[in-house]
Amino acid sequence: MIQLFMPLGFLGFVYREIKGSMANIENMFELLALKPAIVDAPGAQPLNCGPATVEFRSVSFAYNNNRPILDEVSFTIDLGQKLAIVGASGAGKSTLVKLLFRFYDATAGSILIDNQDIATVTQHSLRSVIGIVPQDTVLFNDSLFENVRYGRPSATDDEVEEAIRLAHLEGLVSQLPEGSATLVGERGLKLSGGEKQRVSIARTILKGAPILVFDEATSSLDSKTEQAILRSLSDIAKEHTSMVIAHRLSTVVDADQILVLQGGRVVEAGTHLSLLDRGQAYASLWHAQQNQPLSAVDDSASP
Ligand code: ATP
Repeated sequence: MIQLFMPLGFLGFVYREIKGSMANIENMFELLALKPAIVDAPGAQPLNCGPATVEFRSVSFAYNNNRPILDEVSFTIDLGQKLAIVGASGAGKSTLVKLLFRFYDATAGSILIDNQDIATVTQHSLRSVIGIVPQDTVLFNDSLFENVRYGRPSATDDEVEEAIRLAHLEGLVSQLPEGSATLVGERGLKLSGGEKQRVSIARTILKGAPILVFDEATSSLDSKTEQAILRSLSDIAKEHTSMVIAHRLSTVVDADQILVLQGGRVVEAGTHLSLLDRGQAYASLWHAQQNQPLSAVDDSASP
């Protein structure tokens, strides 16, 4: 019997720990992620970050030595700009996000935020300046309102309500049996993928971090939900430095810069229109998604 109770008790402990002490949702990824022991460098200082610039400088990475995943990836996201990363499944897009959060250290090269190498600052300060809307949002067995509050546990009720409004969740809330007090999550009402993402956007708005990362869901959302999510995002992205991992190219049309990743290398970079004009890798992806014939597109698109 004790064998049964111990793991259950442990799970309860983990849940209470997460629920009670989480300053933001990323901490949960930190707890759950299978990651090597990344520790603060000796004498690490807090990151000094205003509205932020993010720079990847010749970043290479391998999860294990014999299989390179990223190869000399370089880009800069200027203050207030939106960078989109596109590419086939397995190209290394999510790995870039894991490195930005420092779940892993780059094998070579460096990542800088406001000119500070993230390997030299405290992990806590690094993660406090990044808000992420992940592919799969985890909802706790709590009300929708409290699920949003996880973004910043010290937020006032008014601030939580404002985040719900900015994330275009009001329509959903008005349909729930007990409004925002309705229990959601495993033992509560199940929300759709798009609704969960909007809860996640609300959390991120509440967190108020200067860097925003949106890891778009792979599953296709209906166009009404997609438009609602895009509206939510464009409202907040204006004042943030943002990085979007995109599967649906409709979300990247307005990006200041689009990177096309192939096999861990940046093979193209530019705006939507300049990349369409180029008629290579991005144009192929775009036309494939539009389901249009590739008249002017070179199928053998290569770097
Ligand atoms: P998707 O569009 O399918 O999400 P992606 O472009 O985001 O793909 P990544 O998730 O970054 O790709 O994965 C890049 C490569 O790294 C893949 O080949 C993947 O199998 C591998 N990979 C990812 N995570 C790990 C890990 N923890 N250990 C070993 N290999 C991994």
